[in-house]
Amino acid sequence: RIVAPQSTSPNEDSIERALRPRALAEYIGQHRVREQLEIFIQAARARHEALDHVLLFGPPGLGKTTLAHIIAHEMGVQLRQTSGPVLERPGDLAALLTNLEKNDVLFIDEIHRLSPVVEEILYPALEDFQIDIMIGEGPAARSVKIDLQPFTLVGATTRAGMLTNPLRDRFGIVSRLEFYSADDLAHIVTRSARLLNADATEEGASEIARRSRGTPRIANRLLRRVRDYAQVKAGGRIDRETASAALTMLEVDPMGLDLMDRKLLEAIVHKFDGGPVGVDSLAAAIGEERDTIEDVIEPFLIQTGFLQRTPRGRIATQTTWRHLGLKPPAGPAG
Ligand code: ADP
Repeated sequence: RIVAPQSTSPNEDSIERALRPRALAEYIGQHRVREQLEIFIQAARARHEALDHVLLFGPPGLGKTTLAHIIAHEMGVQLRQTSGPVLERPGDLAALLTNLEKNDVLFIDEIHRLSPVVEEILYPALEDFQIDIMIGEGPAARSVKIDLQPFTLVGATTRAGMLTNPLRDRFGIVSRLEFYSADDLAHIVTRSARLLNADATEEGASEIARRSRGTPRIANRLLRRVRDYAQVKAGGRIDRETASAALTMLEVDPMGLDLMDRKLLEAIVHKFDGGPVGVDSLAAAIGEERDTIEDVIEPFLIQTGFLQRTPRGRIATQTTWRHLGLKPPAGPAG
């Protein structure tokens, strides 16, 4: 999927890192979250304390990893990065925790996928900067307490609802990232174009921004593909027409919906008469994982009014029928 919000290759990763803003002042959009963090970081710094633990949640590609790095940068400390599924045994987490220096940031991506035994270790670490580790096995086993340096856990998740209550309760700062406005995304595209030495006009950047599903990672990725197109077809200049032609070639439609979005909406309309349809039936119909539908595809479609989530299942709205060039059915839907 060309516009998948997750990164797909090591090469992509390195470009992403290069485009990542490093300071809070360079972080575009998300004004509410930025303002709060600015205050909390300043206060913690003045007291020479670790920042409170931070939970960031929102769909992939909205800037959670970027913010974690920025927090460490602004606090003037180091960041250690890991992810929920990687931490298989309690010892994996204990090793990371005992290596942290005073006020460091530990970033755990996909924190909702921590195994329960690892999560157990985390509770006292978060609360008292202490861990209890079992040494040995059987009757000789004993528990040893280890003191940790004060640190900040930054956890990221696509869905806050998937965290256990005891874990969620231990975060002092909980921030929800929203989809970006077209204006904010246009800023991001313009900034990235500058860093990539791409010649993009204001209108060209806006066109890419408008069709990026409210997501900086997608905007940056589309920018690079449009740049290729412009280089081959338009002497390198990314103006509105070139951007539009390139995005059409990439099958990103004028509303910014991509192939997967349309596949999902078409399935609801054509296979399920517009819904309601349960997410599992939908997953089977389009050959996509349930989690991908819920984390990646749906949030944007719901936000933009193409899809409704009801207790009986997903429903295509009138906007969807019209967008697919069909006459909406008479009735309450949409
Ligand atoms: P997430 O961790 O939420 O999946 P990332 O932090 O990896 O998302 O962000 C993906 C890319 O989008 C980053 O490489 C970065 O260049 C860009 N990006 C994200 N948020 C912003 C922002 N607020 N301003 C500028 N660029 C951003």
